[in-house]
Amino acid sequence: MSWSPWPRPGTDMLLTVTDLEHRYKGAPEPVFAGLEQSFEPGTLTAVTGPSGCGKSTLLYVLALMLAPSAGSVRWDGVDVHALADADRARLRAGHVGFVFQDAVLDLSRTAEDNVLEAAWFAGIDPDEARSSARELMERFGVGDRADHRPGEVSGGQAQRIALCRALVKAPSIVFADEPSGNLDAVSADVVWDALAEAAASGATVIVATHDDARAATAGARLRLEP
Ligand code: ADP
Ligand code: MG
Repeated sequence: MSWSPWPRPGTDMLLTVTDLEHRYKGAPEPVFAGLEQSFEPGTLTAVTGPSGCGKSTLLYVLALMLAPSAGSVRWDGVDVHALADADRARLRAGHVGFVFQDAVLDLSRTAEDNVLEAAWFAGIDPDEARSSARELMERFGVGDRADHRPGEVSGGQAQRIALCRALVKAPSIVFADEPSGNLDAVSADVVWDALAEAAASGATVIVATHDDARAATAGARLRLEP
């Protein structure tokens, strides 16, 4: 299919979903259906609801890791799930930072290489990538862990490294799936503040959380029903 030039990383990206549904194969009921929502650049949207209500599933569909069973996801008006696989993969690599619930780091590489890998996939100049990786790791208090492997850091440090990995390409869209779930209060604050700051600097930030106190500070909120 034809595919017009895409905005560069760092460009504002408005996400809109229309009549969105996801049903896992063989499941009797969809996880969600008829979902309508806009996610604005410059805003942190908290996605809330009880465990099992579909927060992770929605993030995966918005981040192009899972196809919806009905409806559409538009990034700046482009129906992204209608694109070819290779285009979708390129968009994801170039524009999406994703902090997974359990950090998901490559145990065979150092912390710094885990962060850098995300920048390489985004096609960022290696020297530039290394300096932003180091800057982020210093800022989030894991600079001294750069040469350690993920097995040699604490859970809170692993989550901060995952955060650096998500932010290193200055993504237009940042997702975080219950980023403070397994963290001590200080690490949880660091992560939440960094996400809020990414939004303040223009990114579209979407965070699944069941922390109502933090969700109340978000710029927008989407409550999923059980
Ligand atoms: P949350 O993140 O809000 O806890 P999830 O999106 O993980 O919710 O899950 C929503 C629902 O979909 C749950 O009922 C869960 O059991 C189901 N589910 C999640 N992943 C899968 C899967 N890969 N296959 C089938 N069902 C799944
Ligand atoms: Mg979840």
